Parts: sequence; C-alpha cells; structure tokens
Amino acid sequence: MSYPTYDMNFADFQGRNWQRAMTAEKFAKCRDWTLNDWAVALTGEVGEFCNLSKKVSRGDLTLDEARADLGKELADVLTYADLLMSKLGLNTDEQLSAKFEEVSERIGYRAERVATPTPGDAK
Ligand SMILES: [Mg+2]
Repeated sequence: MSYPTYDMNFADFQGRNWQRAMTAEKFAKCRDWTLNDWAVALTGEVGEFCNLSKKVSRGDLTLDEARADLGKELADVLTYADLLMSKLGLNTDEQLSAKFEEVSERIGYRAERVATPTPGDAK
C-alpha cells in the first residue's frame, strides 16, 4: 500500500496530527484521553521499538531487515509525543527548537547546518 507524501514540517504535522486524532472515527475513543492515557500510548510505542531492537540485538533479525519497521515505530513515538504536546497546549516546533538551543548552550555547542545522517549509521 502506498501513501501520499506531504511536505510537512513539525508545525504542519502537529495541526494535522491533532485534527486526525480528534476527528477520525477510528480514533473516537482517544478524544477524551487524559494526559496519562497519551503518555501510556507513547510508552507503548517506545516498547514496540525496543522489542524490535531487542530482536536485532539477539540476532533474530538483522538491522537491515528491521530498519524500516524501526523507523515506523519511531514515527509512532514522534506521533504520540506530538499529540502529548498538543494535549499540553504546547507547540512542538517551538519546544524542539527551544530545547535544542538550551542543550546546545549547556554543552557549549555552536549549531551549524549538517547533513542528514545516512542509513546505516546505527550499529
Ligand atoms: Mg507502533
């Protein structure tokens, strides 16, 4: 199955993500979720990623075999983290930028534009 691709940044994504969560019939039960409910959902996706990573670590799958599914689980993690930002009334893009700058300053890092990591950097 192929999906249409969108030119999205975090601001676009956050709007679409929250709108889908609040209006899609399949997600109707999520509309009244508490902060804790969303946090548990996020943790479940982290667990799914860790389970796959565990399988790579013990040799059930190679990293190449698992890479696409690991990416999907991380996308699920980001999706729920973004929904939590919305639930808190926070802007994901602003929070990411502010936190990145906060940590960069704390560690004395001067941000420069860098290339996107290439697949296969993970060991
Ligand atoms: Mg998942």
